[in-house]
Amino acid sequence: MATKDPEKRAKKTAERTAKKAVKQAAKKHPGAVIAIVVILLILIAVGVFLYLKVDSVHTFVNGLIGLENSTETNKNAPPKAATYGDKDLSFHFLELGNNYTGDSTYIKAGDVDILIDAGSRQNSADAIASYVDNYCTDGKLEYVIATHAHQDHIAGFTDTKSRDGIFKRYECEVIIDFALTNADTAVYNNYVTARDAEVALGAKHYTALDCVKGLNGAQQTYELGEGMSMTILYQKFYENTSGDENNYSVCVLFNHGDNYYLLTGDLEAEGEASLVENNDLPEVQLFKAGHHGSYTATTDTLLKVIKPKIVCVCCCAGAVEYTKGVKNDNTFPSQAFIDRVAPYTTRVYVTTLGILEYNTTSAKYEDKGFTSMNGNITVLSSGGGVTVTCSNNDTLLKDTAWFAENRKRPTAWAA
Ligand SMILES: [Zn+2]
Repeated sequence: MATKDPEKRAKKTAERTAKKAVKQAAKKHPGAVIAIVVILLILIAVGVFLYLKVDSVHTFVNGLIGLENSTETNKNAPPKAATYGDKDLSFHFLELGNNYTGDSTYIKAGDVDILIDAGSRQNSADAIASYVDNYCTDGKLEYVIATHAHQDHIAGFTDTKSRDGIFKRYECEVIIDFALTNADTAVYNNYVTARDAEVALGAKHYTALDCVKGLNGAQQTYELGEGMSMTILYQKFYENTSGDENNYSVCVLFNHGDNYYLLTGDLEAEGEASLVENNDLPEVQLFKAGHHGSYTATTDTLLKVIKPKIVCVCCCAGAVEYTKGVKNDNTFPSQAFIDRVAPYTTRVYVTTLGILEYNTTSAKYEDKGFTSMNGNITVLSSGGGVTVTCSNNDTLLKDTAWFAENRKRPTAWAA
């Protein structure tokens, strides 16, 4: 029965016309209809996915592309050599020939020579070269690393009228240094001049950020020989500013077979936290005490991960250089540093001992010279064995007269 309502009639006519058009289209273009059905099925599938929890989708997708669902695996894992090769790897923490705290570490990796930092004064270059030349006989340092722009790490790289710095004394192949600095000091500017002169002679120069991101031809890991490598570890202050210059320190991890060795320059607590956060750090045989054994570095956050077996402190023990003439718990190596390290190892060594003199007029102590504590400290990784030998004596910090006189014994170091 035909409806009398003109609106309903119009609607029905439209429906009929539409159905007719679809039927005709299906006859004319069967492929187009199949395509519409497929699109509808895909839309339904997408709807189901959106209905699922986002995390579940991530888990599913990660499973498909082979990623594990753990934040731990987002950390950079260090390389691990399959063998020890037949060459030794040795670390030499050098006395600087003056009574100022500073760093210079020479590393011999088979036939490869590496220098990390060059001491606290321009005359450090003499002390460093006279030591390094016993091992490096071709005048070539394959890698030179400047950890950060403070004088006590870069002074020996610079030249004076009468004395050549390290860059001038050696042919330096690859120079790796800090990506950022707040420094605008004469020593920093002299460092840049000396470094750039070496680059003009053919040295390759990369920042730590270049290395960790593989930019400009830099590598994050350098193979040093069979079973040995050197890795620049990422930490956030390669690309974020810090009010503390020390946090810009280049951090380097060496691997030899199953063993690891970690040097972090003067990296402070914030930098150490970033290092732990971003790297799957291994337990290490050796850790160069952070910031010369300062109370502001070598934090529990780092120690509980790396569990060092040997700790070497590059400093002039007890010197009042940074405490304004006052003898206290914060002179290097600090009481807080000792307390934190003690549960992990008794094997703590210190390069140099400061000689102090009391000035009755100013009622302050003054740094008047230095003598060797352990002296130059050598940590030798040979096959699977790691040994320590020192140029002056092998006495552990806990057994020295300086420790007895100036520091409280942690429980872990019961005599
Ligand atoms: Zn320093």
